[in-house]
Amino acid sequence: MIVFRARRAVVEGVERPAAVLVSGERIEAVLPVDAPADAREVVIADDEVLLPGLVDTHVHVNEPGRTEWEGFATATRAAAAGGVTTIVDMPLNSLPPTVDVAALQTKRAAAEGQCAVDVGFWGGAVPGNAGELAKLHAEGVFGVKCFLLDSGVPEFPPLDEGGLRAALAAVAEHDGLLIAHAEHADAIRPVSGRRYADFVASRPPEAERTAIATLLRLARETGARVHVVHLSAAAALPQLAAARAEGVPVSVETCPHYLALTAEEVPDGDTRFKCCPPVREAANRDALWQGLADGVIDMIVSDHSPSPPELKRLEVGDFGEAWGGIASLQVGLPVVWTEARRRGHGLAQVVGWMAQAPAARVGLRRKGRIAPGADADLVVFAPDEPYTVGELHHRHAVTPYAGRPLTGVVRRTWLRGAPADGTPRGRLLRRGED
Ligand code: ZN
Repeated sequence: MIVFRARRAVVEGVERPAAVLVSGERIEAVLPVDAPADAREVVIADDEVLLPGLVDTHVHVNEPGRTEWEGFATATRAAAAGGVTTIVDMPLNSLPPTVDVAALQTKRAAAEGQCAVDVGFWGGAVPGNAGELAKLHAEGVFGVKCFLLDSGVPEFPPLDEGGLRAALAAVAEHDGLLIAHAEHADAIRPVSGRRYADFVASRPPEAERTAIATLLRLARETGARVHVVHLSAAAALPQLAAARAEGVPVSVETCPHYLALTAEEVPDGDTRFKCCPPVREAANRDALWQGLADGVIDMIVSDHSPSPPELKRLEVGDFGEAWGGIASLQVGLPVVWTEARRRGHGLAQVVGWMAQAPAARVGLRRKGRIAPGADADLVVFAPDEPYTVGELHHRHAVTPYAGRPLTGVVRRTWLRGAPADGTPRGRLLRRGED
């Protein structure tokens, strides 16, 4: 038994003093901070807050097949260092993509024995595989992802409206979850060159609004549970709020980069900032924060999507040519916290967005909160300590956050009751197994 004594802890949505009693891998009880306990003591310092481990349901690990982009060992060590104790891996950029059970087994075999945190998997919905989705669900994926426009890799093609309808019908059948990259190609123009303003203009909010409208219409038609990944365009918030109000089972995520960065500050030619949909103007960022405050946006997850530095074409700086993806798995908490606290949000809200909500949406009942029966995934965070991005455990260090003054340092992380120190004790998770 271990007891974590914290003057400040985030427990079930509020920050308060607590003694967290851990037995083996689980939290046994949450007691008053000074309650006696026959257990080894871990005292959380006065400048620290005890948080539940974060849950990041949007990570591209890219292994097997593009392990030179990232990998289970490097991604999960970065996660542990960043206070993220559970990740759910995206079905694409790895080879094969996770679009059938054989590919899922291949991916699990690649991950086995390498993971420093717990890892779950998304399946993929691509043209022609609607018949596979129930099998993937039965094998424990947390849902299936689709694209509504070109994904950037040829082996993971997008669904057209007919394909999306077929996938949603299949998902509704087994009460699964379909998550969608919602941009519509008709509103997107080709772009080249170093000007960031041209890149943003090439992918207008209308591209997201149109694709989300289609997704919501077909979700109503089929009754399927849906989720919008990496919302960038705040212009889509009213339609999402309206759909929720009428009972469409839709959830929404956004990402640290949309909440922290602005188009105005991106230097021309600096393709470290390229992602799709793009980082938009400051007013859009403000509106996304309002969407979080209003509860229209449920969660913040990284969309950690690294590539080898060569693919970012940094020496050329052409936003048309560069790979679109931002690596942030290890730094998401300070990035979000720095901006959240400036806007008057507390750590309990941040934990709600980055741990509790994502865990709840994918059905990980033992993750994302400090409560009796939950896994003892715990993070010691120093919220007032300045932080600058230093050593990253990601396979590649390229990140737009380099040199940025941030606040908040993850000092220690525990995974199921033991230090998450990079040791590969992570477990491969299946939907519904707890
Ligand atoms: Zn992604």
